[in-house]
Amino acid sequence: MALPLILAVEDEDDVRGDLERDLAKRYSADYRVLTSDSPGHGLELLTREQGEKTEVAIVIASLRIQSMGGIDFLVRAHELHPMARRALLIRVSDAEAVTVMEQAFTLNQLDSYITKPWEPAEEWLYPTMGDLLREWVRVTEAGPRSTVIQLIGDLWQPRCYRLKDMLDRNGVPYAYYPSDSEHAREVLASVGKDGQRLPVLVVNDGRRTQCLVDPEPAEVAPLLGADVRPRVNECDVLIAGAGPAGLAAAVYAASEGLSTLVIEAEAVGGQAGTSAMIRNYLGFPRGVSGRDLAMRASEQARLFGVQVVYLQKATGLHQAGDRYKVSLTDGSGVTARLVIIAIGVTYRRLSGPNLGRLTGAGIFYGAAPSLAQAIRGLPVFIAGAGNSAGQTAVHLAQYAASVTIVAPDRSLADHMSDYLVKQVQATPRINLRLGTAIVDAVGGQRLEALVLKDLADGTTETVPATALFVMIGAEPATDWLPTTVLRDPGGYILTGPDTLGEGLPTDTWALRRQPFPRETSMPGVFAVGDVRHGAVNRVASAVGDGAIAIQMAHEYLKERSLAPV
Ligand SMILES: Cc1cc2nc3c(=O)[nH]c(=O)nc-3n(C[C@H](O)[C@H](O)[C@H](O)COP(=O)(O)OP(=O)(O)OC[C@H]3O[C@@H](n4cnc5c(N)ncnc54)[C@H](O)[C@@H]3O)c2cc1C
Repeated sequence: MALPLILAVEDEDDVRGDLERDLAKRYSADYRVLTSDSPGHGLELLTREQGEKTEVAIVIASLRIQSMGGIDFLVRAHELHPMARRALLIRVSDAEAVTVMEQAFTLNQLDSYITKPWEPAEEWLYPTMGDLLREWVRVTEAGPRSTVIQLIGDLWQPRCYRLKDMLDRNGVPYAYYPSDSEHAREVLASVGKDGQRLPVLVVNDGRRTQCLVDPEPAEVAPLLGADVRPRVNECDVLIAGAGPAGLAAAVYAASEGLSTLVIEAEAVGGQAGTSAMIRNYLGFPRGVSGRDLAMRASEQARLFGVQVVYLQKATGLHQAGDRYKVSLTDGSGVTARLVIIAIGVTYRRLSGPNLGRLTGAGIFYGAAPSLAQAIRGLPVFIAGAGNSAGQTAVHLAQYAASVTIVAPDRSLADHMSDYLVKQVQATPRINLRLGTAIVDAVGGQRLEALVLKDLADGTTETVPATALFVMIGAEPATDWLPTTVLRDPGGYILTGPDTLGEGLPTDTWALRRQPFPRETSMPGVFAVGDVRHGAVNRVASAVGDGAIAIQMAHEYLKERSLAPV
């Protein structure tokens, strides 16, 4: 099998020669490095590769190549090889390049850029190439696969999908093999299983091999070094939720000397962790995938000494003297001096006779990043036309045969940011069914079709569908909190001055002061991020909330030690 291709198109002879030399020096063992002096020849090469079904990992084009221009070339290259990552080569001194790139990034025509000259290559060339290759390997699941953790199953089976999603979203390196593949048969044979019951997870840590048949995620997590139970009964700060708000609070709390425990129901990163590319978070000019951001943040928290407990929900909150006791799903409890609620929001459900039954078997709530490969070449649907739906549509259009956005909205601009509307409109594989509702699904073991209703004339139509990603808004799951934590009619938690309108509950609020910013109507219980009434629903504001809450937490602890209630 031919090695995957790295292709660079540059018409300046000396630059092309240097680039070929530097790329070959570093990558020629695992990739074929080719260069071309013209877009026309470059496209010929890419068309040939497409015919031979070889993989193209990266395409690089000089911004100002003759006859076509670098961006147009990359757009054509992407049509031929949608999985290839794209980089533009620009001169450091080219002031106009930024304007061109700004537009290209907005329209999702570019993944990164390289400046020429790039010496030293270790600083200016290889890190960018490394990021692009890492992303390419991740999205295509190409290259050498993990032999430490191997998952065999059928992704359209809810229990297999659940495991794969858990591994993906928690950043665990693993290999997935569909049950009917040669690899799957080899792995199953090596552990003496016949594959009658799936999924099967094989974990080989170098010393011993363990094989789990149709396991619960909580059985798997300890094999991967993740805690599913708290190692302590008491801590200073207990944080419910490990999205951006909870992780930020954890980093600030632990770095300032507070013993900190985070309880996470599903996967670190929360909603942000499911985002294919976050482009507006400060400090990441080329964007950052939600998973990368989540992994960095959780590693940072753990290196400050935070304990993260996975696959447990906070299910109750009670006052215990001058502390709080938080109950967890498994019936255990932890006592904390203060509590931070960072549980974000939960996706709203579609209602229709078969829509619930096929959840996990073709119908997925949220962006479901672990399914990108599984939908390659298939028709998929997205319910909803907000920002997260738009972002997901653009991402999935790289893999799927077509992506159809279905929403009752009359126009994309109703709920989607302008830059995303432009991206959606510029992506040829995205279709729109606006003014339309999804009212039912068809399928036995898995989704086969959707029933769509035209909201203007009431007619229905059944359309073939392999997967449906539901992103029709979200609401907070705050029912488990005591009524003394005041909420607005939508269930969002009131904090700071917002608590005053309702009148503070006198049985829990015996303080002369008013609640601190981000403090709820229970002293020492804070709410941060999307779960908070008035939240801005951005990664940055969730992170900011986490930082503010910890600052206020210090005030609260100082107050308690100086003037106990
Ligand atoms: C697809 C998508 C794309 C997005 N793109 C962007 C973007 O480009 N830029 C941007 O700024 N914002 C973006 N957002 C919005 C951003 O992700 C959210 O505003 C942000 O994640 C909110 O952070 P949070 O920590 O408050 O909540 P969340 O991220 O929702 O995290 C909450 C966490 O709490 C956990 N949890 C829930 N209940 C419990 C419980 N009872 N006990 C324990 N844990 C619990 C959940 O499992 C979850 O992990 C996007 C959102 C989505 C869905």
